[in-house]
Amino acid sequence: MRKTVFITGASSGIGQACAEVLAKEGYNLLLCARRLNRLDELKEKLSSTYPDIKIHTFELDVRDSEQVQNQIDGLPYEWKKIHVLINNAGLSQGLDPIQDGDIGDWDRMIDTNVKGLLYVSKAAIPLMDTENGAHIVNLGSIAGKEVYPNGNVYCATKHAVDALTKAMRIDLLSKGIKVSSIDPGMVETEFSEVRFHGDKERAKNVYAGVQPLTGTDIAETILFVITRPAHVNINDLLIMPTAQA
Ligand code: NDP
Repeated sequence: MRKTVFITGASSGIGQACAEVLAKEGYNLLLCARRLNRLDELKEKLSSTYPDIKIHTFELDVRDSEQVQNQIDGLPYEWKKIHVLINNAGLSQGLDPIQDGDIGDWDRMIDTNVKGLLYVSKAAIPLMDTENGAHIVNLGSIAGKEVYPNGNVYCATKHAVDALTKAMRIDLLSKGIKVSSIDPGMVETEFSEVRFHGDKERAKNVYAGVQPLTGTDIAETILFVITRPAHVNINDLLIMPTAQA
């Protein structure tokens, strides 16, 4: 049986890399993000390379609880069986001490990284194929384990993801859904550009002196996590660039 993986935030970075790696492994792909054009370009590319898999894309802003519920409820019948959910959509914005922080940035991070993950999980869990190895993978971060200077609110959101992953395990493991957290250090994606509101120069400087991880490094780790035998659940996996202290 070909399994279906649902990836949020598949229009760039880690989410896109997950789509690429899992397509190669023969998974059907359910992909969402706000930038539907990006998803459709990815669908076209992957469909021509892997004609045997099925891909469905849809536009979704994970911050909008009503939209999340309606879009997931309204999926075509053949997409209503999900084996793996990768809660990947997320962002960081701003890198300032609390007293200088921007409230809009704070809201976007909390709404996307915490509330968005909750909304998607609540809507998707009833569709998960608990008879055949269902698995939720949450994208945490080293920022969910430690707090670094000026990382305040982003770190708080990823600490919340850490807590929610643990809570989901308590609620879901006995119901046939494994739950894992993947916690990367620095990964070179559009993340830094988004953090600095499009300032490409500042974004590039983040990686100076460190060879960052790639989205593919994370996607291959997720592939490992979701292909363990039924009796094995990897709770939490911290993955860092070798050069990041
Ligand atoms: P990218 O900016 O490359 O990708 C983020 C993805 O999230 C995009 O596809 C974006 O799509 C999507 N997204 C953002 N906001 C929303 C929203 N409101 N609704 C739906 N989708 C949304 O960054 P990464 O790939 O690096 O980040 C992926 C995850 O990995 C995040 O959760 C991040 O916190 C985590 N992470 C990243 C690290 C890094 O160093 N890069 C380190 C540790 C964790 P679109 O804009 O089209 O909606």
